[in-house]
Amino acid sequence: MRLQDTLSGKLEEFVPLRPGKVRMYNCGPTVYRRNHIGNYRAYMLGDLLRRTFEYLGYEVQQIMNITDVGHLTEDDVADARGEDKLQKEAQARKVDPWAIAREVEEWFHQDRKTLRMLDADAYPRATDHIAEMIAMIESLIEKGHAYAVDGNVYFAVQSFERYGTLSGNTLAKLEAGASGRVEEREEKRNPNDFALWKHDPKHLMQWDSPWGKGFPGWHIECSAMSRKYLGDTFDIHTGGPDNIFPHHECEIAQSESVTGETFVRYWVHVGWLTIGGDKMAKRAGKLYTVPELVEMGYEGPDIRLYMLKQHYRKPLPFDLELLDEAKRIRKRINNFVFYEMANRPEDFEKDAVKAEIEEARERFQAALSDDLNTSEALAVIHGFMTAVNKLEPSNADAALVVEFVREWDGVFAILDDEPEDDLDTEIQQLIEERNAARASKDFAHADQIRDDLLARGIELLDTAQGTRWKTK
Ligand code: AMP
Ligand code: ZN
Repeated sequence: MRLQDTLSGKLEEFVPLRPGKVRMYNCGPTVYRRNHIGNYRAYMLGDLLRRTFEYLGYEVQQIMNITDVGHLTEDDVADARGEDKLQKEAQARKVDPWAIAREVEEWFHQDRKTLRMLDADAYPRATDHIAEMIAMIESLIEKGHAYAVDGNVYFAVQSFERYGTLSGNTLAKLEAGASGRVEEREEKRNPNDFALWKHDPKHLMQWDSPWGKGFPGWHIECSAMSRKYLGDTFDIHTGGPDNIFPHHECEIAQSESVTGETFVRYWVHVGWLTIGGDKMAKRAGKLYTVPELVEMGYEGPDIRLYMLKQHYRKPLPFDLELLDEAKRIRKRINNFVFYEMANRPEDFEKDAVKAEIEEARERFQAALSDDLNTSEALAVIHGFMTAVNKLEPSNADAALVVEFVREWDGVFAILDDEPEDDLDTEIQQLIEERNAARASKDFAHADQIRDDLLARGIELLDTAQGTRWKTK
């Protein structure tokens, strides 16, 4: 398995710290507003890595955090500026921030389930880990990497030589290009020092600390929670493009200053999901949420396939036509499994079909192992379906073919659920009723049955072997 590592800037051979195990941390949602599908692109990368490594035989430990305090509005600069996003939302709407946080978290779980993202091992909330954050901040102060002034605690960026290695934003560069955006607070030793703990009497969420009442910075949350669940060094850390700087840069500085160990072995980041040429963002422009798209007639797996069709690191334009295309592709694959491969003639297994499966499996694994090349993995299944259809498989072949498509779908997760037996029985009965109506020349009734089924998305096909049905 080769992964593009943001830190080295190269494709790297993946070697887990512990053989056969992958320990992974995914930066999760800030729960102040419902997430849009751009956010879900970032979480989809976590799910894709999880499913791919499991398919390749690894055991995966996956942790995704819930940020329910501390994420500031000015999160593209690394200082201490801006308002807490959740606090701001609570004030604007005059609603308790805790209530907002829990509601948005619940929506997040609904949406990710719609998108068929597997359950991570844990979804730790920042507000449940304040003690771990305080302990880490204390350790940073003790080691000379942080200092407290007037109830605020800052990380001293000059104390960490490697600051800037992940993003390229070294202190020299930051100082040379100082846009005036960083806050020149007198109390800070360097304008680029960022907040570990913030004192703010107006904030609705407050905790006691050795520095007085306050709330934690966003970056320390991920350092403290990843360490608690995954240890000082773990394998993979993921996030969206804007997490590279400052969030992940600051996480490295904090974690490595405390432990003296390499924090993360492979940094993996998705590209932007864009709309009208700009990133989709809660701050501006048109957003699409999962329920909105479902309301428009798209299913979770359609959205999933739209995302997986593009390589995770490339920009992904949002476009209804691309969603329609994903829907069509899904239909084709579902049709292949549930219709074309169903009811095949009784016959022996053909070696040629087995050879197709072997080749497709090899190509599929090679595509995934090539930095998660899902576009190629999708092309593999297309070619496979065409080749198999030409070979006119027997029912024994078809069973193996479907088994392979299901293997492939362990990563893609876009196949329809198995049609329920009840449904099949009901349709069979209706088909018989229709045959009887036709036999007695009651064509109006026969047509009625066909039209009713069609309205439910079920199409009847009259063939020489009798009537079959398929979902439209
Ligand atoms: P937030 O809830 O703002 O903390 O964002 C959650 C995650 O979504 C972060 O990892 C962001 O980097 C990511 N993200 C936000 N917008 C986009 C987008 N348009 N495309 C891809 N990832 C995004
Ligand atoms: Zn994070």
